[in-house]
Amino acid sequence: MATLKTIEELGNIKGKKVLLRVDFNVPISKTDGKTITDDGRIRAELPTIKKLLSAGTSLIIVAHLGRPKPTTAFEVESEFSLAPVAKRLSQLLDIQVDFATDTVGLDAQNKVGKLEPGQVLLLENLRFNQAETSKDDDIRSEFAKKLADFADVFVSDGFGVVHREHASVYDVAKFLPSASGKLVQKEVEALSKVLNNPARPLTVILGGSKVSDKLGVIANLLKIADNILVGGGMAYTFLAALGYEIGTSLLEVDQIETVKGYIQEAENRSIALLLPVDIVVAKEFPTSETGDAEFEGIFAADEIPADKMGLDIGPETRKQFAAVIEKSKSVVWNGPAGVFEKDAYANGTSAIAAALVRAKEKGAFTVIGGGDSAAAVRILNNPDTENPFSEDDFSHISTGGGASLEFLEGIALPGIEVLSE
Ligand code: AMP
Repeated sequence: MATLKTIEELGNIKGKKVLLRVDFNVPISKTDGKTITDDGRIRAELPTIKKLLSAGTSLIIVAHLGRPKPTTAFEVESEFSLAPVAKRLSQLLDIQVDFATDTVGLDAQNKVGKLEPGQVLLLENLRFNQAETSKDDDIRSEFAKKLADFADVFVSDGFGVVHREHASVYDVAKFLPSASGKLVQKEVEALSKVLNNPARPLTVILGGSKVSDKLGVIANLLKIADNILVGGGMAYTFLAALGYEIGTSLLEVDQIETVKGYIQEAENRSIALLLPVDIVVAKEFPTSETGDAEFEGIFAADEIPADKMGLDIGPETRKQFAAVIEKSKSVVWNGPAGVFEKDAYANGTSAIAAALVRAKEKGAFTVIGGGDSAAAVRILNNPDTENPFSEDDFSHISTGGGASLEFLEGIALPGIEVLSE
């Protein structure tokens, strides 16, 4: 991949207006519709914001929140308003962050016109404009041009959206001198480190619900990894491909042939592909109606009873996976090993996270590839210490689920390509 342009490469930006695309897609409490329940994504952006402000710029920050219903006219849906984010950002930066109640309309135009160096303005949710995500290049481009007209330079720092060909991520870079922010730089650096020239052995741990969501990642990592460990819901399609009875566990019948191909390829390339050898099962999937679903015991992976469902990897598998992880020099993990949202099925996921911590202590470079595995380490305790995991326990926790998966697939991401030389 070509090198990403940095803020330094924009030259002297003192006195300039910067259009800054960020990922402020934070969870908002359903109860009051305004409390931010996890401000991690806002905090992750502070280094870039501070760097730009100390360079003497003013900032027009653009972002999206959730998935508002697409309408052709600009229309605010209050549950997706970025107003609470402006407030939180004000607190975190300890300066007044102004908020425009539209995106390219009169309020934004007025407030952009009055911006002075050192000041920050956040525009309302970009996705209230259908043009932001339109498949029509001209519609997107027209919207991007209006955003670009507000500023002198563009800095792209929303790693969570760089895989999207959206107006504020992709098209806008064609109208302004553009660079990547510190967060995008950090993400690309960490993920590239494991893809290109990793310290070996490189171990990849894959989990989560479906094989079909991660076909591209598996195919690409089969070319690179020394060890691949498979857990989570996707493991059962692998076990079925070996001819095992998997009870009522998650199965993607249409992926069995593809998975057989992966198993063969791993063998051809002498890659160690480890599947669960024992499984924690229940009678049914735990839902809000069934509660925790009764814990029904641990079975060998080839002896899952016909009426039971596998919901986590068992203790022997945890031991085997941990042993491989701890001997690795690079580790990438994407997808939980079980239904970690329920305590009874979280042990596999917390055991993997703990093994990553031990591997890092021994000098390995460890990356958590966003999404649910990142969420898991935020809510689970480390079984070794019985304390919560911390950010510092891992070399890098990606802020982008979909983006980091696509990055690991080794495909070009539009929002990165457009910032590359
Ligand atoms: P993904 O979004 O594909 O990374 O999948 C994450 C989800 O997979 C989490 O919500 C887990 O609860 C779920 N999951 C993990 N293991 C299993 C399993 N054995 N059966 C069903 N779902 C699972």
